[in-house]
Amino acid sequence: MAADSIIECKGALILGAGIAGLFTALKLAPYSATVLAGTRPGMSGSSAWAQGGIAAALGEGDNWQSHAEDTLAAGAGLCDPAIAALVAREAPERIGDLLNLGVPFDRRDGGKLALGREAAHSHNRIVHIAGDRAGAEISRVLAERALATPSITLLEGFHAIELAIENGRVAGLFARTGIGRDARLVLFRAPAIVFASGGLGALYAVTTNPLESRGEGLGMAARAGAIIADPEFVQFHPTAIAVGRDPAPLATEALRGEGAILINDLGERFMLDVHKDAELAPRDIVARALHRQRVSGRKTFLDCTQAIGASFAQRFPTVYGACAEAGIDPATQPIPVAPAAHYHMGGIASDERGRSSLNGLWAVGECAATGLHGANRLASNSLLEGLVFGARAAEDISATVAPRLGHGTPSAPERFASPAPPHVLREAMTRLVGLERDEAGLSEALAIVDQVERAGGHEPALLNMTAAARLTAAAALQRHESRGGHYRSDFPDTDPAPRRTFMTLADARAIAPAVRKLREAV
Ligand SMILES: Cc1cc2nc3c(=O)[nH]c(=O)nc-3n(C[C@H](O)[C@H](O)[C@H](O)COP(=O)(O)OP(=O)(O)OC[C@H]3O[C@@H](n4cnc5c(N)ncnc54)[C@H](O)[C@@H]3O)c2cc1C
Repeated sequence: MAADSIIECKGALILGAGIAGLFTALKLAPYSATVLAGTRPGMSGSSAWAQGGIAAALGEGDNWQSHAEDTLAAGAGLCDPAIAALVAREAPERIGDLLNLGVPFDRRDGGKLALGREAAHSHNRIVHIAGDRAGAEISRVLAERALATPSITLLEGFHAIELAIENGRVAGLFARTGIGRDARLVLFRAPAIVFASGGLGALYAVTTNPLESRGEGLGMAARAGAIIADPEFVQFHPTAIAVGRDPAPLATEALRGEGAILINDLGERFMLDVHKDAELAPRDIVARALHRQRVSGRKTFLDCTQAIGASFAQRFPTVYGACAEAGIDPATQPIPVAPAAHYHMGGIASDERGRSSLNGLWAVGECAATGLHGANRLASNSLLEGLVFGARAAEDISATVAPRLGHGTPSAPERFASPAPPHVLREAMTRLVGLERDEAGLSEALAIVDQVERAGGHEPALLNMTAAARLTAAAALQRHESRGGHYRSDFPDTDPAPRRTFMTLADARAIAPAVRKLREAV
């Protein structure tokens, strides 16, 4: 790939200006960091949309061991216990970092942090801001602090498309900017590259994620040969607000924590028959129960009228706004809800320092798979994971990677092109790689990925998205069991021997033909 210009970064180049990317940059300071993103830091990625908050064992009677245990229970046998322990142990310190940076977490009378409860947490341990504005406020504060930090350069309006490998090491990142006559391809060379590029929800037609979350970082790393872990595990949020918007606004889990109930259009509270914890059962169970109601022809609603009622607008302003736009008053009317692709447990395999399998590449936040989430993420553990591994990657890089002489800071034009995932791919992911999967559907999904790739020529942005989609579908096809976020209607049981997935893109390409051969031989 021939670049129009080459920028030499002094220190780390970070792809992504969500919470993981910005926090890594702040933790690196005074070590130099260039943060590259498509959208404006502070409003970028899923981070700015997070509603619930961050989990940390800060309350009386709570401890990190209990937080780690809840994480392991939600992860359905696939979490790495050492990683769950280190994240739970470091959580209070990372919340302390955010407080020192000026993040205004909600407090109770008397000044102590107000701690909320969410599904599958055994204690009140979620710090939040203005009810449901945690992501927006944390992102705002981190972006302001990053802008004021001399060692950090923030560059918006760049669309990264490919890693540059030199002498077996990740040495740079190609990014496009501008459109038409302004279009340029820039190679950013850097001694350390950190991917903080978020998840892949927008590869699905029904998602709560912003449209920039389409697995491109994961795809770029996979195309460069990185090992990808657990890509088949996608979490579907049970209560996206079903009013035909793309992406679908979210009705935060905290509403169910406050006692809101799920009903169908017959007024039946169907979760009572599904799980002992009813609406507070693990997310995958609640999401599948809703999916089954809908497949059987029922409509599904979140009824907050009794549990929250008149205080709704004040306590959950973001959800209230999304409902109001659609002409729904959640204080008096049930909210129409449906499950939507929400969070990717899988990602670029990375270790306790955030190092990927590629020399020179670190991965933090949702694009990484550290082993924290296993087969199912515990609510409010993802912002936390970005903070914990952002801090760890920063420490590793500043201790082990010598800065270089840098030169050049490109300015980005106002507009730049970033192709959207084709509708046919998004529709296939929702229909065939969604809440309920089977061999025929997953094989069809992989055939559609092939077609989309062929039709797109060698467009790198598309190849990044199809690589992410292929890994998700191929790993799901290979996993002959149901566990956490992955449910196979043709293999509904859970294998007694839990096993994580580690695969390369080449492995993923070989899976559909291998499964076909096996079937023909039977
Ligand atoms: C509606 C919603 C509510 C949520 N609520 C919570 C919650 O309460 N608690 C919790 O813990 N988690 C929550 N989550 C999950 C959490 O928000 C995410 O997991 C987390 O914010 C991911 O942060 P990140 O920094 O890794 O990625 P993101 O915040 O998604 O940022 C990704 C960045 O990468 C950039 N990028 C990606 N690809 C490219 C490219 N090719 N070129 C240039 N830039 C690129 C994007 O522009 C963006 O800046 C929620 C998610 C959603 C969608």
